[in-house]
Amino acid sequence: MQPARRRGFVDNALMSERTIPIVDHRYASSVPRVPAQAPAAGGLLTDRLGRSLHDLRISITDRCNFRCRYCMPREIFDGNYEFLRHSDLLSFEEIERLARVFVGLGVRKLRLTGGEPLLRRGVEDLVAMLAAIRSDDGEPIELTMTTNASLLARKAAALKAAGLHRVTVSLDAIDDALFRRINDADFHVSAVLDGIAAAQAAGLNPVKVNMVVQRGVNDHQIEPMVEHFRGSGAVLRFIEFMDVGNTNGWRMDQVLPSAEVVARIAARHALHALQPAAPGETAERWALDDGSLEFGAISSVTQPFCRDCNRARLSMEGKLYLCLFASHGHDVRALLRGDAQQGVAAVDDDALRAALALVWGERDDRYSELRGLAPHGAEERRVEMSYIGG
Ligand code: SAM
Ligand code: SF4
Ligand code: SF4
Repeated sequence: MQPARRRGFVDNALMSERTIPIVDHRYASSVPRVPAQAPAAGGLLTDRLGRSLHDLRISITDRCNFRCRYCMPREIFDGNYEFLRHSDLLSFEEIERLARVFVGLGVRKLRLTGGEPLLRRGVEDLVAMLAAIRSDDGEPIELTMTTNASLLARKAAALKAAGLHRVTVSLDAIDDALFRRINDADFHVSAVLDGIAAAQAAGLNPVKVNMVVQRGVNDHQIEPMVEHFRGSGAVLRFIEFMDVGNTNGWRMDQVLPSAEVVARIAARHALHALQPAAPGETAERWALDDGSLEFGAISSVTQPFCRDCNRARLSMEGKLYLCLFASHGHDVRALLRGDAQQGVAAVDDDALRAALALVWGERDDRYSELRGLAPHGAEERRVEMSYIGG
């Protein structure tokens, strides 16, 4: 493990006066052990809590053109912040190789994220490489992206042509002045709406629109967001503000429980619940009775779904995290490239598969279920959302 690189302090979100210390822990990791014996091909891989591996989220850059106060506060991610060098990032070939090995271990959904994934040069080429991957039985793998949509109007058609299936767009307010305060980079709502329209026209449907709800910051935007997206074909998703990382000064009283989100919408519209679309789905799904809108509520804080959590997360520099709240990563890049300093040799695909299977097999993370048991801030420092991509 290398030492933390920099320290800093940040005011919390738009609202609070509290200051909290942060430390950059991007390097807390160890190299996965390569077992002598590879797991049987096609066997069901489960972790210690019986959860299988289904989703891989791949963060492809630590850079972003937004400075959302709850994710990359400007005081920390400023001109002096040391972003990773290009040579530290996994190359497209390395990402494709890893994704292929993960598909061999049962992954059926890939999501590109970041930072802002559309900032990575040539991202369409990466999409084309990932879209060509097939499961052992020849099935294509679901391929999606989460984006702030600032560049989506320009890129949607090329992404679709390259083989992307769907996009999820983040939009925390429909009020332009508030949205600009939240993204803290003067991006207008209209640019995001243009991106959503371009994605829909290109066929990246259904477009999902994620709103992270912070009590007292943007919770008054729930009803206007519903009104705006009714009849648009987009699916709205309200996400509870989470205590990811250490820079956003999260407090429980900033979380608006999903139950309250649903109650507020139900006060204006007749609703009915929908069945989960897939096992392990994080969103509780709802629809307005008039058929004008589907929306989801993701209760990561108030109703944790760890027991169904089937996701792994890969950082842009090849660290694998088994939980959004992890403080420790698995340095897979060392196995891809070899790392003389750590005394590690590069391995072939079979060894890589065996090492990753072992890592997943030993997983017992369930942070959200345990959140209430330790006083907040008493636990180890954790990786930032902009590093593992949500
Ligand atoms: N830049 C892209 C975007 O914003 O869509 C992708 C990366 S961003 C880290 C992924 C998602 O994480 C976004 O929807 C963002 O709103 C969400 N997010 C970031 N910090 C969060 C937090 N503390 N709680 C809940 N969601 C968060
Ligand atoms: Fe950038 Fe997305 Fe984080 Fe906002 S939420 S700062 S757009 S990475
Ligand atoms: Fe999965 Fe960790 Fe979130 Fe639980 S807290 S749902 S284990 S990512």
